[in-house]
Amino acid sequence: MSDLKQVTIVSGKGGTGKTTTVASFAALGSNKVIADCDVDASNLYLLMHPQDTEQGEFVGAKIAVRDWDKCTGCGMCERHCRFNAITVDDFDELACEGCGMCVVACPTDALRLEPVVVGTWYTGVSAYGPMAHARLLPAGESSGRLVTLVRQKAENLAYENELPLIVIDGPPGLGCTTTAALTETDLAVVVTEPSLSGIHDMERQIELINHFDLNAAVIINKHDINMENTEHLRAWCAREGLPILGEIPWDPQVTDALSAKQPLVEHNDGPASQAMRAAWERTAELIAEL
Ligand code: SF4
Ligand code: SF4
Repeated sequence: MSDLKQVTIVSGKGGTGKTTTVASFAALGSNKVIADCDVDASNLYLLMHPQDTEQGEFVGAKIAVRDWDKCTGCGMCERHCRFNAITVDDFDELACEGCGMCVVACPTDALRLEPVVVGTWYTGVSAYGPMAHARLLPAGESSGRLVTLVRQKAENLAYENELPLIVIDGPPGLGCTTTAALTETDLAVVVTEPSLSGIHDMERQIELINHFDLNAAVIINKHDINMENTEHLRAWCAREGLPILGEIPWDPQVTDALSAKQPLVEHNDGPASQAMRAAWERTAELIAEL
């Protein structure tokens, strides 16, 4: 299918309503795959309740591994490690950068570099469509490669099921995971709030999105908590030529929906839910024009 469209929803930081938006869009849209690429805080599955049918290990960077039978306790590894990751009798795998200096320095070949499993990817079926997601192990380091893997799994699901759209829950911020979630996407939607930090974060994310030459749009969440800043956001978006897909009012029922582990638009028909429906309609129209 050559006309597969991908929409990534991002935010400057966690807690701005990104996952609420993605879950609502997933509930409202038809014929789509859902991809949770917020691999550091992968909680979309809590709202989508997928039945996972496939899973696999995600292997991260290499770290040093010691064969204690060969170790003589000479301390050469400790002296050569610039990251204080290894001593004669201890090893800190979180500190190990996998540089290999200790391996070279060890006179008895007791050390080697080995890749470590840092997470698990899943594909499955939810009531809202096929879904790809991943979970890092507690000490697992976030990785753009894992985001790319989840996107590949989502694309496979789209092709297998002949679905024309992937809705991606992107990571917050500007790191390599966000970059991996945005690359070659057809539309990037930035969810922001009318706070000074929210405005600043949004401007930086739009810079990143522009760098990749992607179509961008904005959703203002809790727009009514500071109308002066909302006006500033509206003016800024107008200057930049960015469509505002929705303005979601503050509504305690948003938290109720999260507690009930349901997409907002399925949980209630309050003001935020209605605004989210309108935002999806405008998003769907925009996608159709791309
Ligand atoms: S350099 Fe090798 S032999 Fe020496 S303490 Fe380290 S692991 Fe053991
Ligand atoms: S691989 Fe590099 S960082 Fe890791 S323990 Fe060896 S010297 Fe230290």
